[in-house]
Amino acid sequence: MASQARPCAFCGADSVFALQARDRNRETTEARFTYNRCPACETIFMVDVPADLSPFYAGEYHRFAADGTPEWEHNPTLAEVETARVAMLRRLAEPGGRLIDIGAGPGGFAAAAKHAGYNVTAIEMDERCCDYMNRRLGVHAICSDEPIAELERQAPARVISLWHVLEHLRDPGEMLATAAQRLQDAGMLAIGVPNPRSLQFRLLRARWAHLDAPRHLCLIPEQALASRLRAHGLRLVAATTDDLFGRICALHGWTYALRRRPAAKDSAAVTVRAAQAISRLLAPVERRDLRGPALTLLFVKNPQ
Ligand SMILES: [Zn+2]
Repeated sequence: MASQARPCAFCGADSVFALQARDRNRETTEARFTYNRCPACETIFMVDVPADLSPFYAGEYHRFAADGTPEWEHNPTLAEVETARVAMLRRLAEPGGRLIDIGAGPGGFAAAAKHAGYNVTAIEMDERCCDYMNRRLGVHAICSDEPIAELERQAPARVISLWHVLEHLRDPGEMLATAAQRLQDAGMLAIGVPNPRSLQFRLLRARWAHLDAPRHLCLIPEQALASRLRAHGLRLVAATTDDLFGRICALHGWTYALRRRPAAKDSAAVTVRAAQAISRLLAPVERRDLRGPALTLLFVKNPQ
């Protein structure tokens, strides 16, 4: 595969070919997608992003049970992920004030934040998710597939959260700039992203579940995010890949890599056991030095 010289989707530097990947997770298409790597900021990004990405989100991207409730309402572990995220915010600042959750999905984090005392606004493109948040969770949800434009219209917030959102965006840098601008002084920006410096990506490459072609358009490392946000007056105050969500992602990563496609479908018990064994074996490596598959980062704006 010839190298395709393209400007980095995050910093604009010249990039080099990294890999080609299919939609192993959901098999929405047989097409192959090319990802480049930026030698300057180490972002991995898709070149030639299709104009219409909606077919790749078709079907059950957000899962709802027959009674109309989303998966996190029935899965204590998923609910625990969200309360753990809120607890991480609370360790750094008393809860309360305005919180904007971007790409809120079916509202698991929004509900946990509301419960902790935040005044939550959610921005989400999926109508069913917005309907659930507005009607069932009492969270103000704005249905929009233009999150940057929507965020620009919002009053300044004490917390803005981007849980696994940036990797889906065509212009993650513009989202970061807007989020930084919409934060109050001493406000917090919470970011979750797949980790391109993870052990799993280094070993699994195109088989890595959290590459998630073609839904993930870019994988930005921690240093590049911190450097960009520093220019906007935000300082990194917490970074981990060993939170609950990171550990769940680690097991998913090994499990999906062992499955035949589509990797997101349920698989045999023997596959799950094998993945658990690999995960246990490699956990000491994955849990050190931000080598896990999912980064959780907290930034504070203009800290004293
Ligand atoms: Zn770059």
